[in-house]
This record gives sequence, C-alpha cells and structure tokens, in this order.
Amino acid sequence: MSIEVNNVSKFYGRQSALDDVSFEVNPGDIVGFLGPNGAGKSTMMKIITGFISANTGIVTVNGYKISDYPTYVKRSIGYLPESNPLYLEMFVAEYLEFVAGMYELSGNKKTRVKDIIQKTGLYPERNKTLAQLSKGFRQRIGIAQALIHEPEVLILDEPTTGLDPNQIVEIRNLISSVGTEKTVMLSTHIMQEVEAICDRVIIINDGRIVANDFADNLQNLAKETKQEIFVEFMETVSKEELEGIDEAITVYPSDTNQWIIENGGDTDIRPKISQFARDKNLTLLAISQKEQRLESIFRELTDV
Ligand code: ADP
Ligand code: MG
Repeated sequence: MSIEVNNVSKFYGRQSALDDVSFEVNPGDIVGFLGPNGAGKSTMMKIITGFISANTGIVTVNGYKISDYPTYVKRSIGYLPESNPLYLEMFVAEYLEFVAGMYELSGNKKTRVKDIIQKTGLYPERNKTLAQLSKGFRQRIGIAQALIHEPEVLILDEPTTGLDPNQIVEIRNLISSVGTEKTVMLSTHIMQEVEAICDRVIIINDGRIVANDFADNLQNLAKETKQEIFVEFMETVSKEELEGIDEAITVYPSDTNQWIIENGGDTDIRPKISQFARDKNLTLLAISQKEQRLESIFRELTDV
C-alpha cells in the first residue's frame, strides 16, 4: 500500500476537522479526494505530508509510519500545497535548483532541473521570474517542485483551482502523464476533475469519509438512483400527460416542447416514452438518456 490512513482524527482547538478517517491508496493509482470547502481535505493532506500531526490515528507511507520516519516520508512524497507558495522574485531554474538543494539530491542538480523543466512544459518560460508567469505556469512550477526529488507519491491540493479552462485542461493532462508512473492523490471540489483523471474517488464531508470506490462504480451508483431522459416533441404536450407515463416520477420542461423526464431507478423508460408518443400520435424529435454524473452522487452524499 502506498498510503494507509487509519482512524485519523484532528481537532483545531475544540473544532473537529477530521473524524476517524481511514482509507488506503494503492501504488500507481490516481485518487481524487473530493469534498466541499471545509470538508477536511487540506487538513488530511497536511497530515499525510507530515506538515501537521493528527491527534489520534496512524498514517503510513510505503509502510513507514510518519511519526517514526518523518524524513523518509518527506523524501517519498511530493507536495503541492493549496496556496502554492513561491518565491516570486526568483527565476524558474533558480527556484527549482533552490528546492533541489533542500532535498540534498545526489547527482547533478542542474541536469535534474533541466529534465523537470522539460517534463512540466516550463521550457518556453524558463528565462522569466516566477512573478512574470501566468497562474497556469505557476502551478506547473508547483508541480515541478513537487517532482524534483523523484518521489513515489504526489499529493496535490486543489491543483487546478483558480485556473482558466485552457490551463485546467493543460494541468490535468500534466497530472495524467505524471500519474502513469506515480501514486497521485489530488484534492478537488470539482466532480468533472475526478471524472477526467482519477481511477478512484474518496469523498469526504464534514471530516468523515462518505464514499470510497472506483470512479466507474460511483457513476453506476448514480445511474441506479435516478435516470433522466431528454425528449423533444414536434407538438405541444402537457406536463400532466407526460406524468401519466408509467414510472415517470418527475417531469419538467427544458425548452419549447422539450422535457426532462426522471424515473426513480435503473430501468430504461425510453420504450415507454416512445409508446406514449405513438399512442398520442406525437412526433418524437429527440429522445436521449442524460448521463448521470458523479455530480449527483456527490450532491446526495454531501448534502446536509
Ligand atoms: P478543505 O481543504 O476541505 O476545504 P480544511 O482541511 O482546510 O478543508 O478545513 C477543515 C476544517 O478545519 C474547516 O472547518 C476549517 O475551518 C478548519 N480549519 C482548517 N485549518 C484550520 C486552522 N489552522 N485552525 C482552525 N481551524 C482550521
Ligand atoms: Mg483545502
């Protein structure tokens, strides 16, 4: 196991931030740590990286307890903190060499920095100071500094928050490519992020783990709770008529002559809708199943 978290609780004063949290991360996985703001994501990540300690519980990285082997654990982990603090007056290579120096890397520091600049797509920006970089490139610096000592495990706290849509895609691609050879745990409050890059999802709410599964399984679970069918008729139909369809639980208008019909389970009610159209002599212009996204399962699990 790459990361093992056993019964971890954390209090800030009297406020509980983590309540008996346990989970494991397998080597090579990209795990999404998903939860609303204040759920305890950053706190958990700070504990895994050894920046703060838990009040109770045990965390091991590659089998080594953080409390017993803090230096070993820090060497095995690359960490991009939420705020990505940087020395903005430094130049790209200068900053990365500075970080490399802190890790007391064996071998040629300059070569290592050059490699990492290539790998993280920083080459075109290499002659700038960090202050001159866009937010997307600053995040690349953050990921580069997390990778510099070739850790096996990467902990990325909200790596795409605050980026524009193009930068988000670029950073996700970078994480996916880095993730092929490392264990990655990334926190996010964006469901699509998890769908885009993660194998597994751990959902945390109010300091407690509420789901821990393969991303695909959670998506299937979402499908079992509800299905939404989009339909468009050529003619005007009333809501009441549509509600008469067997197993149509909720019906709401989407646009002129367009409707969303929800059923409560995992049966496909499209055949019933097309039968309804035939019975009423209506022309069905469109009928499609809206993909149930992780988003709905996330809302259900974190709704208080
Ligand atoms: P997330 O990263 O999921 O947004 P955090 O781990 O930052 O959540 O916070 C979890 C809870 O702990 C929140 O209620 C937050 O206000 C509280 N908290 C976080 N850091 C501190 C701190 N240094 N002192 C007091 N409370 C804190
Ligand atoms: Mg946070």
